[in-house]
Amino acid sequence: MVELEAAIVGAGPAGLAAALYLKRAGISFVLLDKMGPGGKLNNIHEIANMPGFLPISGLKLANELYASVKEAGVDFSYGEVVRISRGGRGFIVETDVETYSVYGVVVATGFVYEAVVKGEKELRGQGISYCATCDGPIYRGKETLVYGEGNRAEEEADYLSGICPKVYFVSKSRSLSLKKPNVVPVLDSEIVAFEKRDGLVVAHIKGPEGEREIGASACFPLYGERSALTFLSGLEVKEERGYLLVDERMKTSVDGLFAAGDIVKKGLRQVVTALSDGAVAATSLASYVRGKRKNG
Ligand SMILES: Cc1cc2nc3c(=O)[nH]c(=O)nc-3n(C[C@H](O)[C@H](O)[C@H](O)COP(=O)(O)OP(=O)(O)OC[C@H]3O[C@@H](n4cnc5c(N)ncnc54)[C@H](O)[C@@H]3O)c2cc1C
Repeated sequence: MVELEAAIVGAGPAGLAAALYLKRAGISFVLLDKMGPGGKLNNIHEIANMPGFLPISGLKLANELYASVKEAGVDFSYGEVVRISRGGRGFIVETDVETYSVYGVVVATGFVYEAVVKGEKELRGQGISYCATCDGPIYRGKETLVYGEGNRAEEEADYLSGICPKVYFVSKSRSLSLKKPNVVPVLDSEIVAFEKRDGLVVAHIKGPEGEREIGASACFPLYGERSALTFLSGLEVKEERGYLLVDERMKTSVDGLFAAGDIVKKGLRQVVTALSDGAVAATSLASYVRGKRKNG
């Protein structure tokens, strides 16, 4: 078992920012990821909304972020975290290659999308997207479709309704709180397949009145969103639909456990907010660790 002061789980933008701040605060820690550093950025064609950068390829931004962290003296370690439990110095962090005993942890594991509709996976990046705030402007002036339910889906539809003439809101739910003249509800319905036809993504929909097709320039299917949190099941940490609840210092309901980035319950999931969360979480964790040092 390796004894350190802290662990960061996830080396996406949030984890990388946390690593930079922890390093500069003089804390000993490990930065873990089950893939490479950069997180989701590695698979995104172009990142917009990133102050200081013109639109930039996700891979390039991931490299830039990692370079600045490396320059500060941080190395990333491969490891899939399979469990975090109480014990040792405070927490035992188990990965598929090593076990760490640490005072505190920053969880920055984001969330993932599983393709749940036939054809969804094949059309990713060709009209299927999961982030209206990010990709919506590409479809300005075009008809779009959101498939989901609840706050998150309604927020995506609301955003699109400001830039698209018509937004279809297809949902398994029977209600929609969002009332906008250009948001067309298609409720109590399920999308069974997507296909690309004549430059549009065509959604095959089963609803109370039988089957129908809707074509849109872009579809945002959100039913496959899953938070990457299974390894925390041993701790009684407060969450909502997989998103961790944190206070203004990015502290979760468990002492010594902080969270940052897309895994946190919040209104805007972007690179800038992930970076900010990481900085705040690391600063809070550094202060927590200093308290532990003092008290032995
Ligand atoms: C299609 C798309 C386009 C986007 N476009 C933009 C854009 O233009 N502008 C913008 O600002 N934002 C954009 N975003 C959002 C942005 O990518 C995210 O907000 C950001 O990546 C969140 O960073 P994060 O560090 O919280 O999580 P992630 O980037 O998801 O990183 C999480 C990391 O945790 C690791 N991990 C997960 N589980 C484990 C485990 N058990 N053990 C070890 N490691 C683990 C993963 O491998 C991953 O590397 C886009 C998102 C999508 C999906």
